[in-house]
Amino acid sequence: MQYKKILVTGAAGFIGFHVCKLLLERGLSVVGLDNINSYYAVQLKYARLEELGVARDDAQQWGRQSISTVNSSFSFVRMNIEDREQLPVFFASEKFDAVIHLAAQAGVRHSMTHPEAYVDSNVVGFLNILEGCRKERVAHLLYASSSSVYGENSKIPFAEDDCVDYPVSVYAATKKANELMAHSYSHLFQLPTTGLRFFTVYGPWGRPDMAPMLFASAIAAEREIKLFNHGEMSRDFTYVDDICQGVYVALQHPNRAEKPYQVFNVGNGKPVQLTDFVAALERATGKTARQKMLPMQLGEVPRTWADISKLQALGYESKTNLQEGVKKFVAWFQTCRFDIT
Ligand code: NAD
Repeated sequence: MQYKKILVTGAAGFIGFHVCKLLLERGLSVVGLDNINSYYAVQLKYARLEELGVARDDAQQWGRQSISTVNSSFSFVRMNIEDREQLPVFFASEKFDAVIHLAAQAGVRHSMTHPEAYVDSNVVGFLNILEGCRKERVAHLLYASSSSVYGENSKIPFAEDDCVDYPVSVYAATKKANELMAHSYSHLFQLPTTGLRFFTVYGPWGRPDMAPMLFASAIAAEREIKLFNHGEMSRDFTYVDDICQGVYVALQHPNRAEKPYQVFNVGNGKPVQLTDFVAALERATGKTARQKMLPMQLGEVPRTWADISKLQALGYESKTNLQEGVKKFVAWFQTCRFDIT
């Protein structure tokens, strides 16, 4: 399928920003959407948009589309996907070939204290995206699910048809809800949907609430870093460029079955102990981390490990090893010109 015009929601976010860049490099026309919420430092979100050629003053305006000054194939609109009035009008006026839906309230820990934000953005907002795609006959909807849907899965590595019936956080429950909702729209309306179960993404322009940035900030400021489950945690850390390649491969492969629903793991396939991730950061920064071991936190899982063979069969490769990825992340972090704490 040849796509021309793609909507990327969550475009001011970490993964959305990188996905927009990749799609533009591939010659596609991209419209980015984000409400620029204040879950973490908004200056980082505006800086990402500036990198894409949209000035902060323009990005701040609600509902107005701003064309990038560096690439006329990119425009940005500030909009809330929960908005049941504006969003349908926007979908009807734009006629997207595909939608890559990455806007969501992210973060497992925050969902313990702010569950309503997750239902609003991730369930209500997602329903509005599904409706927009159905009404405007979008050819392919891809959306961010998460490795967190696997919960405390004991089968390793985690494969797409493993049981995902027992989420252990509200965040994970909303991601699982997305997969169920997508399934019903594929079944009822033949909307091609692709769920992307991302595994712990890291890299330049990353999220300040996630371990890589928290650890790097603490190491730089000589503060203690907190390692939960006494460091006995492993994550399938995946470099952001590989994630974007995975999104691109999945974009080219909508399910063509009668009920066009599918999900893919998008990961690295090589889990890393948190203590080893810290060691890689120490090597890249040349500094020693002060580590504080703490008990397991409620809602967290001890490990994630992606079986990536399903997406690999379509051409996906995870190319970036941990040392290389951490080096690139640290190089960006050290030139970061804004306060992201
Ligand atoms: P992010 O928080 O950096 O980006 C999400 C963006 O969505 C933010 O810029 C936010 O302002 C926007 N947003 C939130 N609610 C919105 C709403 N109601 N209307 C419009 N915009 C809204 O997060 P990210 O790390 O880039 O994650 C992107 C997606 O991937 C999310 O769906 C997340 O749950 C999922 N995911 C991320 C990871 C990871 O490791 N980063 C892992 C698994 C899944």
